[in-house]
Amino acid sequence: MIVMKFGGSSVESRAQIEKVLHIVRARLDRRPVVVSSAHKGMTDALINAARLAATGRFDPSVPVSKQRAVAESLGCAPDLLAPFYEEIADLLRGISLVKELSPRSLDYIASFGERLAVRCIADFFARSGVPARAYDVWDLGFITDASFGRARPLPGFDARVKAMFAERVPEGVVPIVTGFVGRNEAGEITTVGRNGSDLTATLLAAGLGAEEAQIWSDTDGVMTADPSVVKTARNIPTMRFDEAAELAFFGSRVLHPSTLLPAMEKGIPVRVLNTNRPDHPGTVIDFNTDAASPPVTSIAYRERQVVLKISSTRMFGEVGFLAQVLAVLARHEVVIDVITTSEVSVSMTTDDLGKLSRALPELERFGGCEVLPNRTTLVIVGQGLPNRKGVAAQVLDAMAEAGVNVEMLSYAMGSINLSMVIEDASVAAAVAVLHRSLFERAR
Ligand code: ASP
Ligand code: MG
Repeated sequence: MIVMKFGGSSVESRAQIEKVLHIVRARLDRRPVVVSSAHKGMTDALINAARLAATGRFDPSVPVSKQRAVAESLGCAPDLLAPFYEEIADLLRGISLVKELSPRSLDYIASFGERLAVRCIADFFARSGVPARAYDVWDLGFITDASFGRARPLPGFDARVKAMFAERVPEGVVPIVTGFVGRNEAGEITTVGRNGSDLTATLLAAGLGAEEAQIWSDTDGVMTADPSVVKTARNIPTMRFDEAAELAFFGSRVLHPSTLLPAMEKGIPVRVLNTNRPDHPGTVIDFNTDAASPPVTSIAYRERQVVLKISSTRMFGEVGFLAQVLAVLARHEVVIDVITTSEVSVSMTTDDLGKLSRALPELERFGGCEVLPNRTTLVIVGQGLPNRKGVAAQVLDAMAEAGVNVEMLSYAMGSINLSMVIEDASVAAAVAVLHRSLFERAR
């Protein structure tokens, strides 16, 4: 069995869904379980309509006409989705009357994207000769906690999904399953978080013991850098889970950060593939260590970070200084990503200026505080980093060549991640020169 997840752009239109049909049809012998996102832009349209409703304006037309256009192009009968359009309108009207949009209502409205998409895709597949059937993932055991917007399956998920799958999916039927959504024990609809269909797919793959989880998107697998920034970015054929996890966290838009955990726990390979070029082998992410792999696998970055710098002579030789600083930050729920210290100062990055500002009055007790916004954490990831001599020099040379000032630099013992902090404005220049130096010059 394989789990195949198709993202929003892969199911955007009839032309794209026809590609998905061919891809799935060619793999029927591997017993595919298809997980689908909403059609591209649908989740945003639903959420925007809900936000509008919360200001008192009732207008379901944007999401409904968007969905209707796709369903019509696929030749679906109007009554297939009609009850859902009514439910969307009822819900938006309710929100517009109370002018209140709770996380619970937001998940409820956002869930329609996937629920409608799987119904019209399965209907289209069935009429095209692939025996498909649509499923809301909760009917296959995806029962979650009540953390709206970041729900996770309740313990016992693996056994539950196996049992319900065996009971509800007949032999020979290709299930087309909703990504992103779930339902709590009270029967209320939840979601796992934006872009979360990947996570649904790896959770299902882990629960069902699939041989592979495939993430079908619109790039040739994971690339050495964001191809929209670096035109010469190229495919990475194989990666380790830990490398991919670093990249996902640092803004590679191909994978959602928590996606890999379920697959990693069960040792299920994750393959990232391109719906527009199905013959391209993409990227396989697993535990394999490739001795011949290059020292650097990829470049990624997170923009709009904030640096906090605390300068204090008290740090000098004092016991527990950092612990006290971090305790204040923890109390204000400030998440720290990169941290560097010297004898008289400590610098760290976070992505939440609001929370940091609330912690600031207390932090000022420790010394002079500087807050520097508009920073980017730029990371070089590679399993070869710990034992390849001269990579750091090469990286810093490239930054100098790009005329970019490296404000912080962090590399831990044996780490597969070298992090630098630079100004947001320098990202394009830094990434271009780094990519050329690390991937394009003959080494
Ligand atoms: N449709 C959801 C979103 O746009 C989930 C996904 O695409 O993975 O966030
Ligand atoms: Mg997506």
